[in-house]
Amino acid sequence: MHPVIALVGRPNVGKSTLFNYLTRTRDALVADYPGLTRDRQYGRGRIGERNYIVVDTGGLGDDPNGIELGMQQQAMIAVGEADLVVLLVDARAGLTAADEDIATQLRRLGKPVVLAVNKVDGVDSRLATTDFHSLGLGEPYGISAAHGRGVPGLLEQVFAGLPETAADNESALARLQSDPDSVRVAVVGRPNVGKSTLVNRLLGEERVVVFDLPGTTRDSVFIPFEKDGRRYTLIDTAGVRRRSRISEAVEKFSIIKTMQAIDAAQVVVLVLDAHEGVAEQDAHLVGHVLEAGRGLVIAVNKWDGLGQSDRDEVRRLLSVKLGFVDFANIHYISALHGSGVGLLYDSIQQAHASALRDMSTTRLTQILEDAVASHPPPLVRGRRIKLRYAHQGGRNPPLIIIHGNQAEQVPRTYRRYLVNTFRRVLQLEGTPVRLEFRTTE
Ligand code: GDP
Ligand code: GDP
Repeated sequence: MHPVIALVGRPNVGKSTLFNYLTRTRDALVADYPGLTRDRQYGRGRIGERNYIVVDTGGLGDDPNGIELGMQQQAMIAVGEADLVVLLVDARAGLTAADEDIATQLRRLGKPVVLAVNKVDGVDSRLATTDFHSLGLGEPYGISAAHGRGVPGLLEQVFAGLPETAADNESALARLQSDPDSVRVAVVGRPNVGKSTLVNRLLGEERVVVFDLPGTTRDSVFIPFEKDGRRYTLIDTAGVRRRSRISEAVEKFSIIKTMQAIDAAQVVVLVLDAHEGVAEQDAHLVGHVLEAGRGLVIAVNKWDGLGQSDRDEVRRLLSVKLGFVDFANIHYISALHGSGVGLLYDSIQQAHASALRDMSTTRLTQILEDAVASHPPPLVRGRRIKLRYAHQGGRNPPLIIIHGNQAEQVPRTYRRYLVNTFRRVLQLEGTPVRLEFRTTE
């Protein structure tokens, strides 16, 4: 699983600036799905071949009265779950008592910490970092988050400092992925939407054979089972097997575990609570699924006991707030009573098949040629963009690489037209589809 880096520091040191820099690959994604809003706190990034999850803990070290308690709680959970903490301090403000407090707290936690001194642009970096040696967190590393200066070097230091557990998780995931016949499904959602009820229902259904747990990782429990002759591995974020009290639900909910479960899955079942409509966090979870490129099935739970007008309202909200993932099947279910639950398997299978489909170069190129013939790409600086051929660059999500000239200039609306065309002709349902353009003059 991708290592988790938590950004910690008092207000105004530049955490969200650094977060934006570390996750800027996501801007493109957000633009590809009009209506999707960026999660400003939890993100993914990549440098070279290495992926990571980064969390802006925001509130930590703030006056606890000044912020929402839930945020503070999530910040503490995030630090606890992180593989490594980057403590950010401000070169211009110099060392403060608040920095010292946070450093003390972090030393107590015993987590690996990298100390980053931000805003060294326009100041003498060596001089600016000297003061911070006294925090006792090792060599301070000067960066300028606003300009990205020093950030690649900082990441190098971060990756060098990662403990072995990250590697252990990697191998647990590799073992899981080595079973090509099992569909990996994660059931995710906010606290109390009914995830564990649904997981128990899925596992408790007739003709479901649940196998012994092959082992657990820090992050999730993998539960293999068989249904109608097909094998699945359920990635349980709800802690179904461990949870003793309902009230633990909120405390146990972790966005990081959810993101890691999404990474480990091939298809994600996102559970919503029909009584609560679509919350911002639901939309962010969808964003994380898109970012990871996983198949998606939406289960609107607690459909029981809702009157007709409430049901109409939920449907309306879904089309407004989650219209940008119109490729995902929506199921209206009651995990409690079991209605609609069996049908989820059809959508899971469909999303899985679409996500892992092999597509030939001949076929993809034919579809591209037809699409271009019926609706040619626009002119860019007086020259028409020429798209020549397409081939598959990956699966889960399906990645289609398109070659041509000025291919990088293809405008967003035209990209969308192509995605929709590939999707429709190839009947790719339940999975995001990615396009990449390469100029081969
Ligand atoms: P946070 O409260 O820790 O998330 O801090 P922000 O990221 O919101 O940044 C606080 C202020 O510092 C903003 O005005 C940023 O523009 C500024 N800032 C952030 N990084 C840098 C930097 O590298 N150099 C300079 N000069 N200013 C920065
Ligand atoms: P989790 O935190 O997402 O795992 O949610 P739980 O599975 O613990 O469910 C939270 C609460 O919602 C419990 O009180 C459940 O009994 C209730 N619940 C779950 N599914 C349904 C459903 O389909 N209908 C109704 N009415 N209540 C449900």
